[in-house]
Amino acid sequence: MKLKALNMTDQKAQFLLEGVSISYANSLRRYFINETPIMAIEDVEIADNSSILYDESVALRLGLLVLETDRKSYNLPSACKCQGKGCAQCQAILTLKAKGPKTVYAGDMKSKDPKIKPVHPKTPIVKLLEGQKLEVTCTAVLGVGSTHAKWSPGHAYYNHPATVTVDTKKVDTKKIAEAAGDNVMEAKGDTFTVLHVDQFISVITALGAQEKGTPVVDQERFVFTIEPWGQLSSYEMVQSAIDAFNHDLDQFAEALE
Ligand SMILES: [Zn+2]
Repeated sequence: MKLKALNMTDQKAQFLLEGVSISYANSLRRYFINETPIMAIEDVEIADNSSILYDESVALRLGLLVLETDRKSYNLPSACKCQGKGCAQCQAILTLKAKGPKTVYAGDMKSKDPKIKPVHPKTPIVKLLEGQKLEVTCTAVLGVGSTHAKWSPGHAYYNHPATVTVDTKKVDTKKIAEAAGDNVMEAKGDTFTVLHVDQFISVITALGAQEKGTPVVDQERFVFTIEPWGQLSSYEMVQSAIDAFNHDLDQFAEALE
């Protein structure tokens, strides 16, 4: 297996994977979105709610908030010493107390653990009119996307790179390489290997050029793109997915013995 990092920032990771089967690439993709633990609100205790939203709607909105996740300090409830009963190692408590008139935002929540807080404090929860109140206590726990989408840490997908030969009579290759930017992985004369073939063709068409023959899609290579929602950085999302994959493979090997 060969791996090459293409673009790595906290918000987005892109890497090229070679020498694996399509089923392996797909397993990886599923681990990124479904088996990477993150924090989300699971239980909501409502002490007061005179807002326009039903208790269930308030709880749903709270459950979908994006919470910063501290992977090192928390266990999955199922793997915790408390056996899922709930303790400081597997639960984080957030409270919210608001009185109208005002718009209640995620940033109005108070967290007992400063590391577990909403990533987007301007996410609106409900609008309170004069005299309306909202008072809730929320319990956030680690979970995985295969249980509920609120525990899915982001978007993960792959595509195959393609090789395009360009008719360079009208436009020179330097101009094409400049205009296509990061999309170009390799360039040899009038032949370009690109990450996204559609984007590349729009660029050369805009320059007045066109491709020679049909682009050749390379089914053996995978360009992965990982875009976290914000609970984890893209690096943490990749690392957690690989850890989960290894853990499951170990368990599989143990079960076979
Ligand atoms: Zn616990």
